[in-house]
Amino acid sequence: MRNVLIAVSGPSGVGKGTLVKTLVKKRDDVVESVSCTTREPRSGEVNGREYFFLSKAEFEAKIAENEFLEYDQHFENYYGTPKTFVEETLKEKSVVLEIDVVGALNAKKVFPQCVLVFIEPPSKEELRRRLSGRNSETEEQIANRLSRLEYELSQSEKYDYRVVNDDFDEAMKSLEEILDYEKSK
Ligand code: ADP
Ligand code: 5GP
Repeated sequence: MRNVLIAVSGPSGVGKGTLVKTLVKKRDDVVESVSCTTREPRSGEVNGREYFFLSKAEFEAKIAENEFLEYDQHFENYYGTPKTFVEETLKEKSVVLEIDVVGALNAKKVFPQCVLVFIEPPSKEELRRRLSGRNSETEEQIANRLSRLEYELSQSEKYDYRVVNDDFDEAMKSLEEILDYEKSK
């Protein structure tokens, strides 16, 4: 069994965070990479657990030092994957990245063996319901996130796998099957 790098993407609110958290809790052969961001922490988020929360200047210094495997700027903030953490962890375990479509396609350029998994919503209405239900964004932020939806869905055909997150347990099962298959290659 080899260790693999998997990038999980999909529209905001589709459930990728919940899927990835459940996967790493269930499996001790997979670790989630903690990204850096300049966005404000949401209530309950802890520095170093959900993200490393950095100032814009700190983030830009890391860009200058080439410390990111990939980074992107959206929703007016930077988000990036720490390169050394991913490279070191892959020596021991598989690594899962929860990153947006631009980031995932960039990660594949740097790491061609990176497996791309796109999580699709069952419908736009259900996506909106999940985003609103999360109670973590304002209406304006939700509209901003939904405005990226068409673009994100149009990129899904570039992915190695697509999983519809309708029934959560079914989606989890598919994600694990993808991981096991890729590890066995
Ligand atoms: P993302 O990380 O893609 O932005 P989250 O993981 O935060 O999305 O999920 C958004 C909301 O949808 C959360 O409240 C989560 O509990 C809920 N959710 C996730 N998967 C499902 C599912 N299969 N069915 C219903 N609700 C779900
Ligand atoms: P949120 O603000 O909801 O935590 O994340 C917003 C978006 O940023 C999501 O689509 C998430 O997948 C993406 N994201 C999180 N970390 C990274 C990263 O390291 N790189 C890139 N490119 N996107 C990321």
